[in-house]
Amino acid sequence: MNPDLLQANEKYAANFASLKPDMGRFRNMMIIACCDPRVDPYDLLGLKNGEALIIRNAGGSAVDAVRSIMVPQHSFGVTGEIAVIHHTDCGMTKVTTDQMRELVKKANPARDDVAATVDSMDFYHILNIEEAVKNDVKFLSENPLLLKGTKLSGWVHDLETGKISKVVESAVSA
Ligand SMILES: [Zn+2]
Repeated sequence: MNPDLLQANEKYAANFASLKPDMGRFRNMMIIACCDPRVDPYDLLGLKNGEALIIRNAGGSAVDAVRSIMVPQHSFGVTGEIAVIHHTDCGMTKVTTDQMRELVKKANPARDDVAATVDSMDFYHILNIEEAVKNDVKFLSENPLLLKGTKLSGWVHDLETGKISKVVESAVSA
């Protein structure tokens, strides 16, 4: 890690008593978003650290996020809305599952175990952002591993304007 980051942490820790999040400000909501560094789920909704539980992965895939939804729902009573937010110009629109498999195999020549592992993985390539949001929300709504009745919403975050637009609303019904 670069030294400037560690210096920043020194400052952060010096003020931590006043910044320290407590469960009192938690809004009982989860956000699933892409890990793209241009996306800031806190800033785009005016949230402070501690107000929402944010799950991030490449593409903001709901399928990838299931384990991270199940733990807070079943173990910690996080029962509120789950908002799925995908964004324009997402990297997952630019790389396919086949391309990812080839890249990983190329990086690991003569490793049949790696080839077998990567061939069994789906990287959730996105063809159309709105369709991907709808599919992710549908996937969650039909998932019996999640708490029945959980409110769901799906959004597209436009990286040109900063605005988010609602694509779909639903609930877990499985
Ligand atoms: Zn992305």
